[in-house]
Amino acid sequence: GETIGGADIDPSALEIELTSSPKPIPPSSKLTFGRTFTDHMLTIPWNSETGWGSPKIQPYAPLALDPSSTVLHYAPTLFEGMKAYKNKAGVARLFRPDKNMERMTRSAARLAFPDFTGEHLTTLIKKLVDIDSAWIPTDPGTSLYIRPTMIGTQAGLGVGASTDVLLFVIACPVGPYYSTGFKPVKLLATTSDVRAWPGGTGGFKLGSNYAGGVVPQQKAAALGYQQILWLYGEEHRLTEVGTMNLFVVLEDKDGTIELVTPPLEDMILPGVTRDSILSLARAHAEGKNTLDGLPAKFKVTERNLTMPQIVAASKDGSLKEIFGSGTAAIVSCVDGIGYEDALVPVPCGADGLGDVARVMLREIVGRQTGEIESEWSELV
Ligand code: PMP
Repeated sequence: GETIGGADIDPSALEIELTSSPKPIPPSSKLTFGRTFTDHMLTIPWNSETGWGSPKIQPYAPLALDPSSTVLHYAPTLFEGMKAYKNKAGVARLFRPDKNMERMTRSAARLAFPDFTGEHLTTLIKKLVDIDSAWIPTDPGTSLYIRPTMIGTQAGLGVGASTDVLLFVIACPVGPYYSTGFKPVKLLATTSDVRAWPGGTGGFKLGSNYAGGVVPQQKAAALGYQQILWLYGEEHRLTEVGTMNLFVVLEDKDGTIELVTPPLEDMILPGVTRDSILSLARAHAEGKNTLDGLPAKFKVTERNLTMPQIVAASKDGSLKEIFGSGTAAIVSCVDGIGYEDALVPVPCGADGLGDVARVMLREIVGRQTGEIESEWSELV
């Protein structure tokens, strides 16, 4: 068909304004997650009549928004979380950016925001990362966290599809997630607060899914738990851990190790790390790419588990491991779950990792840094 101006994000229209006052780059040991931002940001405006405007890379600065902007009232806002990694030789890479773009355009459709070609935004993100490449730390476990965001900027208090949208991308260097080694976490399985429900928006990465999680998280912290285990329904189905996907490792009667994660349906966020773990684990289970450290008798299933099943498996010893998965920590192991006034013990290795989580961490980090050759790794 005929293409009209502004029908898609156009990387060739990029305008670049470099900062005249670069900031000092702190050592990676001094970084607090999400507090220090790089020198530049990427912005791309969209309007319902003129379509996508020219992308701009410009000095990082506050946005000017009309106080009636729809995002400030009804929360049409979505985001992504992805990372760039730089090895000691100075080569920068993105990990599976296509998956983040796929999820971002799905989220955009859910908010009546405009569509765009994911690869075009990836091209621009690579440009931003390249310009701020001195900000990508190289120490083990460090990375540059990239936050693509879209907000409804139409001025006016009517509820409806925003006629103006701003897509922007900011980036922050992050230190090692676990500076003192991997520490297992204790979860509070909440039976009163619900993160997501059938027909809701839990399967999309919308800002509005997160604001309501803060008070439950505070309640869990006050009781000495690091994270919430989000349950659903009267049967207390396990869904996600804090802002991570959930994996459970069980041993069958015949000694087969089963890696289980809840099926996506519409309550589970389709995590990039979840997808990566599933495909690595399936390749091992099918004998296509055997991973050192995983047993030969190994299977992978996407099915629902309930808290009564976890309690029983903890008691009879068939529960081997529970871990969360996400871009921030890759894996985070669980050593206990507070549930209905009791603590359900969950096994965890002395190094703070279970056997399956340890292998997944090694395989994913290897692909992120380029040590393990993989089509998941894209040069910037
Ligand atoms: N679930 C939720 C609710 C999340 O916010 C995240 C973090 N994006 C994840 C799971 C993990 O997704 P990913 O592996 O893509 O970081």
